[in-house]
Amino acid sequence: MDLKRRNFIKKSGIFTAAGFLPGSFSALAAALDTSSEVQNNNAFIIRDANIITVDDVLGNFENASVLVKNGKIAEIGENISVPEGIEVINGKGFIVMPGLIDCHWHMWTSLLRSMAGDSEQQGYFPMTTRYSRLYSEKDMKIATKYAAAEALQSGITTVCDYNHNARSPAMVLAGCEALAEAGIRAQVLYGNYRDQEPSEPTHFDGIRQVMTKLQEDKKYHLLFLGLGSRGVGYNKLKSDWEKARELNLRISIHASSNEDQKGQIQKLESLGLLKSDVHIIHGNAITPQEIKAVKRSGASITMTPYSEMRIGYGLPKVNELHEAGVNTSLGVDTTGLSGNADMFAIMKLILNLSNAKAKNEFYLHPKEVLKMATINGARTLGIEDITGSLTPGKRADLIMLNRNDLNFSSGKRLEHLIVEAAQPKNVHFVCIDGKIIKRDGQLTRLDTDEIVNDAEDAFESMHRKINQ
Ligand SMILES: [Zn+2]
Repeated sequence: MDLKRRNFIKKSGIFTAAGFLPGSFSALAAALDTSSEVQNNNAFIIRDANIITVDDVLGNFENASVLVKNGKIAEIGENISVPEGIEVINGKGFIVMPGLIDCHWHMWTSLLRSMAGDSEQQGYFPMTTRYSRLYSEKDMKIATKYAAAEALQSGITTVCDYNHNARSPAMVLAGCEALAEAGIRAQVLYGNYRDQEPSEPTHFDGIRQVMTKLQEDKKYHLLFLGLGSRGVGYNKLKSDWEKARELNLRISIHASSNEDQKGQIQKLESLGLLKSDVHIIHGNAITPQEIKAVKRSGASITMTPYSEMRIGYGLPKVNELHEAGVNTSLGVDTTGLSGNADMFAIMKLILNLSNAKAKNEFYLHPKEVLKMATINGARTLGIEDITGSLTPGKRADLIMLNRNDLNFSSGKRLEHLIVEAAQPKNVHFVCIDGKIIKRDGQLTRLDTDEIVNDAEDAFESMHRKINQ
């Protein structure tokens, strides 16, 4: 956003008159314009670190410093003078890089970790449908917090939480509450729910309610809303998307996920719906013509390789999308299928899958995979001006990886190391919007024991009811 536009928002007071600036634009405004109110004077400097900025202009630095001030990346370089009185963090032996961005995750399903079973009836969809009916608002909050804690442990600083157990605005707000308490940046997608009849319209009243709440209450300043669209076959898709766009909400949709769904992206194209605010999930069965249409429109595609492969959707079309220059990003999707939320493993799988499919050791550079997990993700969510790379002026969403750990020491090809060797346990430090969320390998604001206990209790109580 340019300065003029920001000043206009400030002067006109549009932002405070909530409801008029929805979606990612208002999130951007919130993140930038309320910074002086919501940030304390937090400032710190990380010195003598290896820095991967994922900014094409800045590149990488050796033995350099990152200065964080008022929630922003203030400076990166080799000779930064240390302002008086600020904390100095020793970065020797660490890699500093942008926080990872997950672009597709049904966080409420985290209580159902690895619960997709071994028969038609126990499969992922019927299983999640059965449990979804039993979730209370409290369960939604517990599940989302459990997922957010795992995200933070793994170095994920932004999530796209696709809530498709949105039985009421309160069910969505319960998830928002958890994300706000965790201190993670998030696009929350207000979706439908598992057994919602096609005759039941999308809950736009609820969407407006949640949107207003997120804009009015400062505790939600890192959250912004989007539409988790009904499927391509829904007969009011066009009017839903028109309404969403009137509200300035970006749109996310599962499409062309497997061979049975072939042609769905073509249908979106023929309805005139594909635009740069569209975020397609999976696309494993995308055709060459559809890839061209997506590229033309500026829409993004998120691949979630672990869930896609586990459920039998086939392999992600990583090379075809990459060659066409489509903006691609990565996601966890659901720990019901993926087991865990390890973005390093997701990156490694994508890299190896890509070279395997190309039958070429040198086909995809890990730099490209790192982009998918950072700046491309930010672009997918429409927040590339505020996060996704270590660029001075952007919000300070960054992580430090410990090169002294057994599995992550020796060698010096840093991008290869991050994609091929790193694991969540190497994430030593996490900072989001200038706030330190993980330090010395420990989460600073969440009690993981309590979170695990709450999650297990909530799951057990639903599980008992299912098996009665
Ligand atoms: Zn999904």
